[in-house]
Amino acid sequence: MVQAIKKYTFDKGGIHPPDHKELTRNLPVETMPLPDELWVSMAQHFGAPATPLVKRKDRVGEGDLIGAVEKGLGANVHSPASGEVVAIASVPHPILGKVPAVVIKVDHSAPPKDYEARPWDGLSPQELLGRIKEAGIVGMGGAGFPTHIKLNPPPQAKVDTLIINGAECESYLTADHRLMVEHPEEVVEGVAIIMKILGVARAYIGVELNKPEAIEALEQAVKKSARQITVAPLEVKYPQGSEKQLIQAITGRRVPGGGLPADVGCVVQNVGTTWAIYQAVVLGKNLYERILTVSGRGVKRPANLLCRVGVRVADIVDYLGGLSEETVKFILGGPMMGFAMADLSAPVTKTTSGVTFLSRKEADLSNYGPCIRCGRCLAVCPMGLSPNEISIYMEKGRFEDTPRFGLLDCFECGCCAFICPSKRPLVQFIRTAKMKLRQKAMATKKG
Ligand code: SF4
Ligand code: SF4
Repeated sequence: MVQAIKKYTFDKGGIHPPDHKELTRNLPVETMPLPDELWVSMAQHFGAPATPLVKRKDRVGEGDLIGAVEKGLGANVHSPASGEVVAIASVPHPILGKVPAVVIKVDHSAPPKDYEARPWDGLSPQELLGRIKEAGIVGMGGAGFPTHIKLNPPPQAKVDTLIINGAECESYLTADHRLMVEHPEEVVEGVAIIMKILGVARAYIGVELNKPEAIEALEQAVKKSARQITVAPLEVKYPQGSEKQLIQAITGRRVPGGGLPADVGCVVQNVGTTWAIYQAVVLGKNLYERILTVSGRGVKRPANLLCRVGVRVADIVDYLGGLSEETVKFILGGPMMGFAMADLSAPVTKTTSGVTFLSRKEADLSNYGPCIRCGRCLAVCPMGLSPNEISIYMEKGRFEDTPRFGLLDCFECGCCAFICPSKRPLVQFIRTAKMKLRQKAMATKKG
């Protein structure tokens, strides 16, 4: 039995949206069969897209390197299956519009690649980091920040605490939940690897209390580990899984505005990333598949899938028996932080935690109205920002004025839009303001 001695949580703002996790929380992860073609995006990480290292008609093996970034932030991209490169094409991307991709015709006769566990204790932190870099691991909770960079904070940061994010507070998503229930020992070994890299003696795995089986499984696994790892039960509150809120909930430390977790001695890693680190270091496996949730009442058969990178959403829909006639919205990710998409040919990437298909009853498609200055969005914002002002200035076309209302501290959790009685698309206003500021900065730099 789980004993919730202490419930960790953050103190400012937050909401309790319906979680809809009942659709998939008890469904074991199933492996999606390989489709005939994989569209492997070269933009699966924070930073510039990778450059394809292969050309049309090249043969590739499962796990082979097919894309790399030479300068700046980026991560390697590997072939998710054996086959032949049939094109270098463009594929839909939620933020960038279209991005380059390597299209692979899958060779279904090729045997699956075998991986065997090997000891890692003798490897130095630098060697472990090198393996993570080579494997192309990025933050799998959504941001896609290259993991080898995040795990190498500047020495003045004095990191003493590792926090693993198993909160999975987004509605509908249960992929991390199933991962923790089905692979707890591998997750805990991944935690031990990260602790060695960072040289920290203390780690926490934060899990919301609506996942008691995951907490129980991890506690059993932690008992077998020699490391000081604590499973921290978190109050069920959105956005409990955002980095700054998680750090405050577990350690009481506050990351300053514009600051990073390392500024308060913490590094946060998603639980899916931690599993990928285990696979890269212990099995020598590059990152080319992930667990994701496909849910919502718009899809005929909701599921948790182990899915190769490059599988198109359309292939997933076919595999799960199609969509219901009531489907009105498709989102890459969950409804709070995900991106509404129009094109089912979008491929799964390393950062795709889920695909949500909302039915007419679940999606609110009503038009939005003017701000009535009720102040509700201010009350729920966990960062203490003024999303109402940002939206009003955006309507007036004055995007340069929005940073003074906290624009750059907004991590787009969507609490404000969820609570707004006028249904104002506050996150869309915020994303547009950020994009316009970026465009302006680039134009100033060039000219
Ligand atoms: S989306 Fe941004 S402004 Fe809105 S509640 Fe979240 S952090 Fe605050
Ligand atoms: S919740 Fe909506 S209506 Fe109320 S102040 Fe915020 S933006 Fe305005």
